[in-house]
Amino acid sequence: MTVITRFAPSPTGRLHVGNIRTALHNWLWARRYGGSFLLRLDDTDAERSTEENVESIRADLNWLGLVPDREERQSLRFPLYEAALETLRAKGRVYPAYETAQELDLKRKIQLGRGKPPVYDRAALALTAEEIARFEAEGRRPHWRFKLDHAAPIAWNDLVRGPQSIDPAMLSDPVIRREDGSWLYMLPSVVDDIDMGVTHVVRGEDHVTNTGLQIQMFEALGAAPPAFAHEALLVGSEGKLSKRLGATGVAEMRAEGIEPAALIAKLARIGTSLPVEPFVEAGPLIESFDFASFGRAPARFDMEELAALNARIVHQLDYAAVAARLPAGMTAEGWAAIRPNLRTVSEAADWWHIIEGPIEHRAEEADRQFLATAAAIVAESDWTDAPWNALTAALKERTGRAGRALFHPLRQALTGRDSGPEMALLLRLIGKDQAIARLRAAAD
Ligand code: GLU
Repeated sequence: MTVITRFAPSPTGRLHVGNIRTALHNWLWARRYGGSFLLRLDDTDAERSTEENVESIRADLNWLGLVPDREERQSLRFPLYEAALETLRAKGRVYPAYETAQELDLKRKIQLGRGKPPVYDRAALALTAEEIARFEAEGRRPHWRFKLDHAAPIAWNDLVRGPQSIDPAMLSDPVIRREDGSWLYMLPSVVDDIDMGVTHVVRGEDHVTNTGLQIQMFEALGAAPPAFAHEALLVGSEGKLSKRLGATGVAEMRAEGIEPAALIAKLARIGTSLPVEPFVEAGPLIESFDFASFGRAPARFDMEELAALNARIVHQLDYAAVAARLPAGMTAEGWAAIRPNLRTVSEAADWWHIIEGPIEHRAEEADRQFLATAAAIVAESDWTDAPWNALTAALKERTGRAGRALFHPLRQALTGRDSGPEMALLLRLIGKDQAIARLRAAAD
């Protein structure tokens, strides 16, 4: 069996961390089994779907490296949904209903008032031909419901949740097409999953009930349902489904300097029994990906933790991987020196400016003579491969200083900062002439 997964966002908005995670899990599962990962744009809602959102979904997946093997759009597939509706109608599995939204609302209120679940009463099934003719004559158009089979529980073995069972009698026959001919999500999704050979449906647990309904649709259309994996939802660090998380997407991640690899390493593993680790490449995440490791509790997403993971990823990035994002002139040697001090790649520019100068620093009175001596030592030195070691050793001997009293004024004079990357690496990058000039300026 070739694994085929799909990520099916509605282009009515931008991707947020929650649906990026769903996309990632679909991608990981397909990659793990050498299958294919498809992007299905659920754009049946013509009013709310926009091309701008489609473009941003594609761009975000691209930035993350979750490149689909194929792309499909529901808006180009309406004839297939029509045909499926006809098939189901011929089998007596769909029926027209004429209630208005207000009538349905009233029915629900009455049921709830009587302490009953608000399940649709199937009144439309009892309509006579005359009643239907009268509605049509009044200009009413029907919406269409899928008729659930109440004979037996709907059961499946969920890859995350284990054995599931739903009593169809507890559910309303779902509306699959509206009065105006537009499609609701439910049936088109099943038609596409069948037509595209989808083997695994991986999505959030908010779809569990839909799965019950959809399993009956697969069967009614003569197809075996795919396997299902419903993952627990993502919550913010405060433990709630936060608005902020719902509004956090690739744009916000990029603005924070988050690397795609960090987001992927995080989202692949949170909510699972496997540790979140700073993988720069997806390989180990693909190999270890397994729905059996997923927990049932909501996964907590914390931006601070992501930032810390990001730093650990940045510390591993090769010069070639970041060169295009570094300030002009910054060399591989410069990157190697600065990399361990960064939380984001863009911070490299700050340190590079320190190497390039100019630096503003005037030492305290007590250190000026010491720094003048340092300048003289550098000026006399032959600036070998290890100028920092040579300088500090000579200074120690001449001035008797050691430890912080030796190192700290030098760091301040040479970089203008109290801390930073290793001085041995920085000094080589600063260069002999600059070093002399800075030491003299600080001593002045
Ligand atoms: N468009 C649906 C959604 O975004 C797809 C759900 C599914 O994966 O079937 O919720």
